[in-house]
Amino acid sequence: MHELSIVLNIVEIVEKEVFKADAESVSAVELDIGKLSTIEPAAFEFAWKHGIRDSVLERAELKINYIQGMGRCSECNTLFEMNALYDSCPECGCYFSEIIEGKEMNIKTIRIEERLKSEK
Ligand SMILES: [Zn+2]
Repeated sequence: MHELSIVLNIVEIVEKEVFKADAESVSAVELDIGKLSTIEPAAFEFAWKHGIRDSVLERAELKINYIQGMGRCSECNTLFEMNALYDSCPECGCYFSEIIEGKEMNIKTIRIEERLKSEK
């Protein structure tokens, strides 16, 4: 299940940010996940619950924006919505298209919880 390694990778990136900010935890994180990426939503959410255990993200609220796939046909240049990697062009039926959007996995925002001054 490669979703777990993706979650652990996110945890690592976020931990670095938290360390840089001299904070302790994160209250919310927002991710952009393309519908054409290899991430399967249910598997990802399951992996998330396990992967964030005992990490700075343990209490963070997770928000995922699933990004619609968009492709451009390499035969007739039609732009069209893609729901799978090998969707054919609705105009000419061609299977060769350039993927414009929908393969990404980005951390969009990280809301870091500031450490209370009195705790020092
Ligand atoms: Zn076409």
